[in-house]
Amino acid sequence: MKKKDFQTRAIHGKEENFARALNPPIFMTSTFSFPDLKQAEGVFDFKAPGYVYTRGNNPTLKLFEERMADLEEGAEAVAFATGMAAISSTLLSLLIPGDELLAHRVLYGSSHKVVRELLPRYEIKTRQLDMTRPEELKKAISPDTRAVFLETPANPTLDILDIKKIKEIIGPDVFLVVDNTVATPYWQRPLTKGADVVVHSATKYISGHGDALGGVAVCGDREYAGYLKFNFLTELGGVLSPFNAWLMLRGLKTLKVRMVEHGANALEIAQFLKAHPKVEKVFFPGLADHPGHELASEQMDGFGALLSFELKGGQEAARHLLSGLELIKIAVSLGDTETLIEYPFAMTHRDYSPEELEMFGLNESLVRISVGLENAEDLIADLEGALEKI
Ligand SMILES: *Cc1c(COP(=O)(O)O)cnc(C)c1O
Repeated sequence: MKKKDFQTRAIHGKEENFARALNPPIFMTSTFSFPDLKQAEGVFDFKAPGYVYTRGNNPTLKLFEERMADLEEGAEAVAFATGMAAISSTLLSLLIPGDELLAHRVLYGSSHKVVRELLPRYEIKTRQLDMTRPEELKKAISPDTRAVFLETPANPTLDILDIKKIKEIIGPDVFLVVDNTVATPYWQRPLTKGADVVVHSATKYISGHGDALGGVAVCGDREYAGYLKFNFLTELGGVLSPFNAWLMLRGLKTLKVRMVEHGANALEIAQFLKAHPKVEKVFFPGLADHPGHELASEQMDGFGALLSFELKGGQEAARHLLSGLELIKIAVSLGDTETLIEYPFAMTHRDYSPEELEMFGLNESLVRISVGLENAEDLIADLEGALEKI
């Protein structure tokens, strides 16, 4: 039978018969009982189907994992409590003292901290470099290089990295971990381009409503997924709540329609900002002059809905812009129905050294917008009003 379309699979997935409920029940239980010891032994030996304890497995979590593995075209997924639990557990599962991790220059703030501060505490060597230039990566690889970690698009400057080319350079023995939070599987499926693991903050577009934290690692290899699950999820303990798994499953049903609308809104706003005299520069891969535009057109099925821009007039202008907005909310995070604006220089990246700011391509003129699902004209009017007050 022909493989069904993404949107159909996002709604239906694998059918389970839970009293023929249209939506799955939320199994809010910590443990599962056995009718007798023999049955328990079978389950503990992985010989009989069944559940033991929610930190190891749970039917609602399993449905979410299966749905994510299907949408990302992976073999198996492992759900986590947050995106950071997925990322830190995955990296810890791959690296031991003496190994080296190479990462892109720009990472999500907490991932940057894991790479720069936490892993080196365990004598894991880490290095960040500019992976928009694959030649640099080629030069950086050493016999100790065990894994490569990147985000594409990488916010706040929305760098686009060539997943296929990077995997070709690092070869089959170095694990490629791609954070696909910003693109979502609707717009990009890194496992089909050579990634070994895809990690997500499901808190963002997958949940889509800004009401739940969650994470997931989708693995290309079933055996590795089992290793990650039974050594690093269950033992480190960053387990997703079944209630949140249910919210994620609900979010996935509308992922496509939301992403299409988010993307159309983002393009309109990017074009408006680009034409505005008080705006110096707009970073959005959907604009033809973005350095990653061509690659994004090949690698992705859309351009995302996250954008940033630099204002003329530096910090003064940025502060005026943020205080002049009415509809758009000042908040971190992304992927919610509400449009959110953040000013990295004073908020998420306020403790960065000048050297780190430069590495990230960040300065005091840059603000980031996660474009939501409100009417685009209303959003533009809000920005226009605030820009006028600068
Ligand atoms: C938010 C985010 C994370 C962290 O996810 P949490 O769910 O907040 O732990 C990781 N990567 C990216 C790209 C993110 O946007």
